[in-house]
Amino acid sequence: MLRAPARVSSRARDHVAKFFLLFAAALLKSRRMIAAVFLDRDGTLIAERNYLSKVEEVSVFPGAVAALKRLQDAGFKLFIVSNQSGVGRGYFTLADVDRVNRHISDIFENGGVRFQKIYVAPEAPDQPSRGRKPSPQFLFDARDEFNLDLSRSYVIGDKLIDLECGWNAGVKKSILVRTGYGAELERNSPGKLTAATVADDLQNAADWILK
Ligand SMILES: [Mg+2]
Repeated sequence: MLRAPARVSSRARDHVAKFFLLFAAALLKSRRMIAAVFLDRDGTLIAERNYLSKVEEVSVFPGAVAALKRLQDAGFKLFIVSNQSGVGRGYFTLADVDRVNRHISDIFENGGVRFQKIYVAPEAPDQPSRGRKPSPQFLFDARDEFNLDLSRSYVIGDKLIDLECGWNAGVKKSILVRTGYGAELERNSPGKLTAATVADDLQNAADWILK
């Protein structure tokens, strides 16, 4: 009879201990979670060319490498998320896209910048696609593979679908750059950009993120 209350309280103690262990584990996990910057390719990292498919057509924006280096040094993991409907339309092949992406990666790697992964949606807009922007699917894939905290992450792009992709994924901010189609979008549809931040270019976007 006298032992019963002691047993109850020891069980309660176990419950409290278990709760604190779970809480501490969740806290540690959230601390370990990494923030990312998801970058559009054409018009954001490199000059926009209509259906670019050749290495010779690649022109990385001045200051782009340095801008991403600053983000990387601040702890952000970098990803490229690119719609390449030219593949689905039959203008060029996925091998062409891979060749161009390898070339771009090499240029950034020479400046000490590493992309964790490059996601490509090769489908045309009328074809079924798992990840074509504005779908947030590739951001979810990256979150699961790299333990990312999307609520502390950013999307940078020059089209509305880039911004929408970020909004659909629940990122901290979608940033429109005025390079590529960005300035035109800002001019024609300012009402669609109320939830976005607009930056002149990648350097300006990096400044805003790191401010
Ligand atoms: Mg673009």
